[in-house]
Amino acid sequence: MHLPFLFMKDFTELESQGSFYFKPVLAERYNVSCFFFTRLGGLSKGPFSSFNFSFQVGDNPEDVRKNFTRLKKITKAYKIITLDQIHSDNVFIYDGRGKREWGDAIITAQRRVFIGVKTADCLPVILLDKKNNVIAAVHAGWRGTVKNILGKTISILYQKFNTRSEDILVFTGPHICENCYEVSEEIAVRFPSGCFSKKDGKFYASLLKANIFFAKDSGVLASNIYSLNLCTKENEIFFSYRRDKETGRMISGIMFN
Ligand SMILES: [Zn+2]
Repeated sequence: MHLPFLFMKDFTELESQGSFYFKPVLAERYNVSCFFFTRLGGLSKGPFSSFNFSFQVGDNPEDVRKNFTRLKKITKAYKIITLDQIHSDNVFIYDGRGKREWGDAIITAQRRVFIGVKTADCLPVILLDKKNNVIAAVHAGWRGTVKNILGKTISILYQKFNTRSEDILVFTGPHICENCYEVSEEIAVRFPSGCFSKKDGKFYASLLKANIFFAKDSGVLASNIYSLNLCTKENEIFFSYRRDKETGRMISGIMFN
């Protein structure tokens, strides 16, 4: 199987163990591994075909477990941390101990721990403090976005990890684009101005623009934000809830080597 050739500035396409993913070129420099996986190259079947990471969508749990095992091989992680995501602004700090948690963002300074978020249309946002060796993964759907889960995650980096704003790199992954993301007027107007639009009486929201707005608002430099701007609904290599309804969730994440 081959990925359709998609030239993306600042990102490369790679394959490992039959699974396909995108990687920010810049991450190499900082001894981190960062992955935006596609749906291709896993073991799930039917609508969840094939690299699905959600136990909550009706997939065979055994297949999902096998996908996690494959992920561990690809990332060479000692441990994989994901959360029960609930469209909240709860940020979980993994300090090497602790039980499975719920929430929509993870921060860690642990080595060889892959922290990941699961998405199908929502925006995955990966953060790296390039000086202080702290990483974060954020799940930003519209609810998390308007609650500013990204800004909340960044403020925890400042307060608890002594991160400096100029040291934060932000990588955003595949998500539903503004043209495809019709929302109600009530939802649209909760987005920052300039991050939603109106066309023929319909409202559309941009998860990407809004999260870039919040990142900058928290002090991240525009030049340190890198976006893999591919639409999940328009590209069949991704799961898309809006397109397929019954579908899986991809994983995006980062790990210190
Ligand atoms: Zn689109």
